[in-house]
Amino acid sequence: MNAAVELAYLLAAVLFIFGLKWLSSPATARKGNMLASSGMLLAIVVTLLNQRIIGFSAIMIGLVIGAAVGAVLARTIQMTAMPQMVALLNGFGGGASVLVASAEYLRLSAEGGAAVDVSVSIQFSILVGAVTFSGSLIAFGKLQGLVTGQAVTYPLQKPLNALLLVAILFMAVYLVVTGPGVGLTATMAGVFGEGVLVPMMILVGLALLLGVLSVIPIGGADMPVIISLLNSYSGIAAASTGFVIDNSGLVISGALVGASGLVLTMIMCKAMNRSLANVLFGAFGSGPAEVPGAAAGAGGGTVKQVSPEDAAIMLAYARHVIVVPGYGLAVSQAQHAVRELATLLESRDVDVKYAIHPVAGRMPGHMNVLLAEADVPYDQLWEMERINPEFERADVVVVIGANDVVNPAARSNPSSPIYGMPILDVDHAQQVIVMKRSMNPGFAGIDNELFYHPKTSMLFGDAKSSLTKLIAEVKEA
Ligand code: NDP
Repeated sequence: MNAAVELAYLLAAVLFIFGLKWLSSPATARKGNMLASSGMLLAIVVTLLNQRIIGFSAIMIGLVIGAAVGAVLARTIQMTAMPQMVALLNGFGGGASVLVASAEYLRLSAEGGAAVDVSVSIQFSILVGAVTFSGSLIAFGKLQGLVTGQAVTYPLQKPLNALLLVAILFMAVYLVVTGPGVGLTATMAGVFGEGVLVPMMILVGLALLLGVLSVIPIGGADMPVIISLLNSYSGIAAASTGFVIDNSGLVISGALVGASGLVLTMIMCKAMNRSLANVLFGAFGSGPAEVPGAAAGAGGGTVKQVSPEDAAIMLAYARHVIVVPGYGLAVSQAQHAVRELATLLESRDVDVKYAIHPVAGRMPGHMNVLLAEADVPYDQLWEMERINPEFERADVVVVIGANDVVNPAARSNPSSPIYGMPILDVDHAQQVIVMKRSMNPGFAGIDNELFYHPKTSMLFGDAKSSLTKLIAEVKEA
């Protein structure tokens, strides 16, 4: 029986790995998701059949409530709110690790004490799980507007956090070396009492506090990176819990989540040209955002506006058009409209490509997911390195709700906060049409000289309604 269970976990792990592999391309992502989900189903079924389960009724109640909440959320959640949803899910993962590990610690303590290796895993699960839980709730709150999105900083913040970490490590070590089986030192027993419950609760409380205090100094706009990092933490906590309850399925899946979350975090940092330390401790977003006036900009330049009619003529008579989607496309849910415009242009023999910046939008793959939803063919989605040499051949580039990812300051202005971030070389094209509602900045809170460039025309308005007008005008042209 045991060998069959281990084999089933191994099979589940293989399904996870191939699922992850397929998730890395939009063309195979759906299949990858299905594969990884079947792996998880297999792991759950095997666990339910195998483990020392006392009764199924509580499990069934949890399953029904959890599945119902999950299904409703998955169906109703807005695409733009996806990072918050992921934050919550990570948080629950971390919380589950805390519950399982602490329950196991209490059980083992009642039975005479946990072995040192098991106890180390338990304290580690509690620590990482609790930090993940409370940190994710703060990340959720920041993105949902329940907690200030500003980076909250105060004097001695880092030393105080370091002190908290020392206190946590002290409690964790105390819980490993002590316990009814080992015998309490008189002083500590005097402080915490004879049981392990109080010191364990103190450890949980301190770790929860650390989660809160380490996420509040991070600006709301950096939350997607933090969520990816917390996702990694939740995996690490789960893997450690797998060691606690001797479940290889949990160890493997936790390790996969831990590693992939970390890889994704690094990819995001690289695409923003920032170090992880800068994201974690740089308090990006604590300063006031620079909001320029409507017409005068960085170099005192003026902004050229274009009407949908004129923009339609530029597009209808172009041969090569590149569409650059950004966060604003997601906000206005204009993915179907952009697809319609592209199809219309293609019917007039215009070659249309989409330029995908790795951090366009607010979550990794945001643009790919949006455009896939509108059935944009995958071969029209060009990654940044591949599309950049194409811009100089493009007659018109249509920037839809993108801002930072097309800001030439990243190349030319060493004092810009985004200096060094790889960008889409939109300014190399013949003409640029930028669709956005105002001159407001994007995520980085900085002005964009592209908007004042002589070859740029601004089409102001909500992206979806501008696109709808543009489609009507192209049909007329
Ligand atoms: P930006 O956030 O730079 O700009 C988005 C623009 O969209 C805004 O200037 C806004 O201008 C416009 N906009 C908003 N709503 C609408 C609407 N309804 N219709 C038309 N326009 C709209 O987006 P980018 O995609 O260019 O860049 C993403 C940024 O997010 C980068 O700085 C990146 O580093 C950061 N980031 C990305 C992550 C990711 O994983 N993708 C993770 C963390 C950060 P206006 O208000 O005038 O309309």
